[in-house]
Amino acid sequence: MPGESGTRLWHPFADMAAVDGAELMLDAADGCWVTDADGARYLDASASLWCCNLGHRVPEVNAAIAAQLDRLDSYSTFGDYTNAPAEQLAARLATLAPVDDARVFLTSGGGDSIDTAAKLARAHFQHMGQPERLHIVGRTHGYHGTHGFGTSIGGIEANTSGWGPLMPHTSSVPYDSLPALEQELHRIGPERVAAFFCEPVIGAGGVLLPPEGYVEGAAALCREHGVLFVVDAVICAFGRLGTWYGIERFDVRPDMIAFAKGVSGGILPLGGVVVSGEIAQPYFAAPGGPILRHGPTYSGHPVCCAAALAALDVYERDLLIPRGQQLEGDLAAVLEPLKQHPAVAEVRAGLGLLAGIGLTEAARAATPNAPGALQRAARHEGVLVRALPDGIAVSPPLTIAQDDLRLIGDGIAAALDALVATHH
Ligand code: PMP
Repeated sequence: MPGESGTRLWHPFADMAAVDGAELMLDAADGCWVTDADGARYLDASASLWCCNLGHRVPEVNAAIAAQLDRLDSYSTFGDYTNAPAEQLAARLATLAPVDDARVFLTSGGGDSIDTAAKLARAHFQHMGQPERLHIVGRTHGYHGTHGFGTSIGGIEANTSGWGPLMPHTSSVPYDSLPALEQELHRIGPERVAAFFCEPVIGAGGVLLPPEGYVEGAAALCREHGVLFVVDAVICAFGRLGTWYGIERFDVRPDMIAFAKGVSGGILPLGGVVVSGEIAQPYFAAPGGPILRHGPTYSGHPVCCAAALAALDVYERDLLIPRGQQLEGDLAAVLEPLKQHPAVAEVRAGLGLLAGIGLTEAARAATPNAPGALQRAARHEGVLVRALPDGIAVSPPLTIAQDDLRLIGDGIAAALDALVATHH
């Protein structure tokens, strides 16, 4: 009976009373495949949580982790402490980033990175003598993690409500409208806005592609009004959109880029922020200058950084970064026939190796938590996908064989049939 098996593990984003006793117990993984405790195999069409871009059990990453554990297992980088993997990783990530004179601040994940970027944005204007520039603008349907700033600028209503007041001086604008962004800047007063946070392709909020020209237009509005343009590349980076940071698909120069997930192949927890030289400069200029009194215990963790260095090697050696773009048309093509399904309102695909399948209003009305039901139905077909507010997302590892994309399309088609069958 749900609720009576008595798990002590409280899962994120879970209806625990329903989950308790009905968990999917994962046991092993290999490449793009995951096996449960009963030996059933599933195609990992979501790369865990859009993060295992190299697939699972990557030998080079495992070896790097083991070697680093045997050398310097753990030490902080607070103050003047450092370690070679952290230094090398920051240098490589800075060189790869489309950011001028970049510095890299390392964290434990995406939410950490977003709140780091938000605090840095506010601190920047304090140093610039513009302390009234506090406001941070996000977008509807945006997802930026679960910390204070990330929750406050998130645009998924179910996630932002129920906590009482959020951070002051934050707001969201319709995700696809440049006039709405411009109006919001004027409503607040542009001289009071510190930053605009933008996922190149919105992920958890629905896999929503930006309208043509939106990203460039938003960056231009930010520049015009002295507002920092901050890219949340937590999902889009490391090949998901076919480039290192995803944002290279657009003709913009961000002031900061938050990253996580794929940086370590999703294998160990790691994130960070690429920060432009203009923002970082006061902190690096001369002793006695400003100090960023911020950072998690595991910032620059040597084992996580060694894993990431090995992951970067594999991305490079196996030419995996461009695959996110090379396969985007193939993924869109295998999902295209789903548009004919009576339960499907739309298929959102074509930019990077990720896609959203939105259910019709009728399909959602017919089944309680239809996205969750569709996710479970796909699991019965041997395909792991992720529920979205209106349907499901797919984001397989970049290592997926072109032919295996068809398994995703077929599995979802069968799952949709099963979902509709329960309506009758
Ligand atoms: N930003 C985006 C765009 C994300 O997708 C996520 C996680 N799904 C986060 C931030 C938060 O990252 P984390 O879960 O590592 O804190």
